[in-house]
Amino acid sequence: MKLRQRTATVLLCSLAAAVALAGCNARRIKERPSPRGTNVILLIGDGLGDAELAAARNYLTGAGGHLTMEKLPVLGRMTTYAVVENAPHLPDYVVDSAASATAWATGKKTSVGRLSTAPQTGEPLATLAELSRAAGIPVGIVTTAEITDATPAALAAHINARVCQGPNDLAFCPEFRRESGGLGSIAEQILHQRFEIVLGGGRRRFEQHWGGLGNPQALLDTAHQLGFTVVTTTSQLEGPLRPPVLGLFAEGDFDRLWKGEPARPYPGSGPQRCQPAGRPPEQPTLEEMTRKALEILDQLARERGRPFFLQVEGANIDKSAHAADPCAQIGETAEFDRTVDLVWKYAQERGNTLLVVTADHAHATQIVPHPSAGAHFPGLLSTLVTNEGALLTVGYATNAPAGSQTHTGSDVSVFASGPYSEQLAGRHDQTELFVVFARALGLRE
Ligand code: MG
Ligand code: ZN
Repeated sequence: MKLRQRTATVLLCSLAAAVALAGCNARRIKERPSPRGTNVILLIGDGLGDAELAAARNYLTGAGGHLTMEKLPVLGRMTTYAVVENAPHLPDYVVDSAASATAWATGKKTSVGRLSTAPQTGEPLATLAELSRAAGIPVGIVTTAEITDATPAALAAHINARVCQGPNDLAFCPEFRRESGGLGSIAEQILHQRFEIVLGGGRRRFEQHWGGLGNPQALLDTAHQLGFTVVTTTSQLEGPLRPPVLGLFAEGDFDRLWKGEPARPYPGSGPQRCQPAGRPPEQPTLEEMTRKALEILDQLARERGRPFFLQVEGANIDKSAHAADPCAQIGETAEFDRTVDLVWKYAQERGNTLLVVTADHAHATQIVPHPSAGAHFPGLLSTLVTNEGALLTVGYATNAPAGSQTHTGSDVSVFASGPYSEQLAGRHDQTELFVVFARALGLRE
């Protein structure tokens, strides 16, 4: 019955379009989940807590404006805490990207630094990407960090330390060496998973050799042997690409789009306007990578009669906040929000797509009074002149001025649209994302 209704509405809409009648309500069909599964697109702003979001909104749209993500119809809130490694019944109130991504990738809490492995025991936890692949659902992972960095890696790797990114980086995880019968570094595990499209930075990890002294081989050569289409420049990303696709557009993380004076001790840097920094041309934008991932996943999903799963990360919001660099942070947030716009438009046209935009944890940013107001802020400050011509003072004070600023433990916002999105309204823990995504993809009731 449901199917027949859906077909009828599709027909009516096509007819309406054919005779150029306005007002056909396409929303009626696209908000109804398909019995064969709903596409899931998760956009993660790494470190995009509510203070980071408000700073970017003030600068970019004005205090009364809305970022695109804030226009999505469903709003929720999420807790993001981790657990203590040697006492996993206790919460660790401030999470890192590894434990956080593990929470939505597997539905289980773990300790800071772990990727899709259980605390204490190290038992591997099945990820949404692995469950998807087993069900014939194509998977895409896109990031502006190294693809071996924690947020993308949680979907593809099971390892007890996030730093073990390449075969030469296994000092903290010697038992993972492939030569010793282990699963390998994060880079090796990504190749082994053969997800349909993985795009980001981190080429240096794949230039490393594995196989020990006997038969060393660069992982890039292994990737070619395994049948990957390997691309390393923006221009190679254009045109048709045969999956599986491995895109490695930077040696490490992508460069920041904007620059400015970092925050400084009282009375701080500025007043300043942020400047474009210019990313090298071989590094695509997050939108360009996301557009290609959507193109490939959409086609594969149609061929297979299955939904797809895509995770896209604006990674360097976090890294800029660690560096107390508000211009870089806001520039990366602007790029992330443009990507939300692209994906939301796609989701509305495609229909039957759950779109979720959230953060993995809050960060160090605070919006504080201008230093002339009298308070002597103890950390690092910068005053920005916003696009509406007002002064926005941003402070960072979670570490000594010379140290890396830290994550913080407050909740994060969740913006969502499409089928199942209403299940994310209200306050949940981030492990609930796993449950809702599994339902949408048809992996569980
Ligand atoms: Mg990240
Ligand atoms: Zn971080």
